[in-house]
Amino acid sequence: MSKQIIVVGSGNAAMCAGIAALEAGASVLMLEKAGQDLAGGNTKYTAGAMRFAYDNIDDLLPLLKDPDDPRLTVTDFGGYTEAKFTEDLLGFNGGRPLSAEQARLVGGSLPAMQWLGGHGVKFEPIYSRQSFEREGRHVFWGGLTLAAENEGVGLFDMELAAFERLGGVIRYNSAVTALLTENGKVTGVMVGAEAISADAVILACGGFEASTKLRRDWMGGHWDKAKVRGTPMNTGDGLAMATDVGAQRYGLIDGCHATPMDLHMPDFANLDLPASERKNYRKICYFLGVMLNANGDRFVDEGENFRNYTYAQFGKAVLEQPGHFAWQIFDAKVEDLLYAEYRFHDAHFVEADTLEALCGLLDGVDAPAALATLRAYNAGVNSSVAFDPTRLDGKDTAGLPLPKSNWAQKLDTPPFKAYPVTGGITFTYGGLKVSDSGAVLKEDDSAIGGLFAAGEMVGGVFFEGYPGGSGLTSGAVFGRLAGAGAALTDSQG
Ligand SMILES: Cc1cc2nc3c(=O)[nH]c(=O)nc-3n(C[C@H](O)[C@H](O)[C@H](O)COP(=O)(O)OP(=O)(O)OC[C@H]3O[C@@H](n4cnc5c(N)ncnc54)[C@H](O)[C@@H]3O)c2cc1C
Repeated sequence: MSKQIIVVGSGNAAMCAGIAALEAGASVLMLEKAGQDLAGGNTKYTAGAMRFAYDNIDDLLPLLKDPDDPRLTVTDFGGYTEAKFTEDLLGFNGGRPLSAEQARLVGGSLPAMQWLGGHGVKFEPIYSRQSFEREGRHVFWGGLTLAAENEGVGLFDMELAAFERLGGVIRYNSAVTALLTENGKVTGVMVGAEAISADAVILACGGFEASTKLRRDWMGGHWDKAKVRGTPMNTGDGLAMATDVGAQRYGLIDGCHATPMDLHMPDFANLDLPASERKNYRKICYFLGVMLNANGDRFVDEGENFRNYTYAQFGKAVLEQPGHFAWQIFDAKVEDLLYAEYRFHDAHFVEADTLEALCGLLDGVDAPAALATLRAYNAGVNSSVAFDPTRLDGKDTAGLPLPKSNWAQKLDTPPFKAYPVTGGITFTYGGLKVSDSGAVLKEDDSAIGGLFAAGEMVGGVFFEGYPGGSGLTSGAVFGRLAGAGAALTDSQG
């Protein structure tokens, strides 16, 4: 008889785990806390962008929805080696060596994409956000090139179709509330008063980013002010259930992905908007201008690196400022380069023809100090280097207490615009420790029989930062592992 597997959650990690378990011959029941509209968790809120190691366009073509797109002949995708992916992760480790989980992510990234491709998931180049035009060619930058067709919603739809094609069953409105155990082995779950038995359970039910209490308790007081960018369902249920049966908490528990978001957006991502519009409260073009806090000071190097490598950290930096907000300032020269989210119908901004007038409009900001900062910034801009957003152009500033290292253009072309932002939490980095086969480990590093985990729930993958597009890939890599591991559950006890 085939193994009975329960997968908790229905995001990308859960889908990958479910598909892998079905492939290995198991029967799979997926239990999702949300109704059908909010099933798919954070995955559905994403742009579907996935980072993976590849040599050149030959690795990309088989993954594409439209390999005959004429733009491909005038596109430079470059390559993104495992060594570069590793280096990018190490850059955010705060001196920590590469973790075993990170090594798994890097090595498993291209195979996971090919595996998804084999299950009918189609991808498209991210021309609008990850490339710039130079001399008639589309030049990709930053190692992130593909997103699922129709972004996160498309990824969920394509994965759900593959899961159901293989015979998987999904139940909505079924929040798992506890794990059942017998002699230390997990034997099923409780959904409210209902007990459901299984040979193995895979937890893929997200982090604790949507729990104000857990954010405050585990990450610090100011995190209760954060906006929540994704699903309201990820309230740490899986972490609590696993630790209740002896699982080890692992990774950086106060680490998270957080980005600058519109200060006036709802506290939770606006569920009344179509999924394709929900990401429009994000505001991540700070690298084209500067950010000022309530004291009128800059507080990060806005041009430190490509925004893929800074956006997930700068939400935290904004949240740590007095009053937990900042203003992003741009001039008309970069208007055409600002992402569509700056033209979103509900984007908040002020506009003026002089910097002095603009500073007077920045609610909550010391206007004279802000004007002094902007004037000093303009005076510090290196005019001898040409602006080039396709690369780290080295167009920097001199003589400022905090430099801007790239893309530093003078704010000199009216009208000037300023957008108020705060920090929005995307997902948490701390979680559980898993073995090579995705089994959840106890404090002594032995496996809890019958219990597996994947996705945001796996700790040790991200620490003090995040190269954009790695979360979905992590879910696919660890989901595959957990699904295959769970299907073999008896052989490993
Ligand atoms: C706005 C936004 C944009 C993003 N963009 C990208 C991107 O482009 N690329 C990228 O790589 N990453 C992106 N991310 C991060 C990405 O969403 C996550 O890394 C990834 O989706 C996590 O997948 P997951 O399956 O672990 O969790 P989720 O997709 O969140 O799935 C968890 C599921 O578990 C369910 N659940 C929770 N508790 C229970 C319970 N008790 N019982 C049953 N079910 C439960 C939830 O309802 C949810 O469906 C983005 C995130 C957000 C919020």
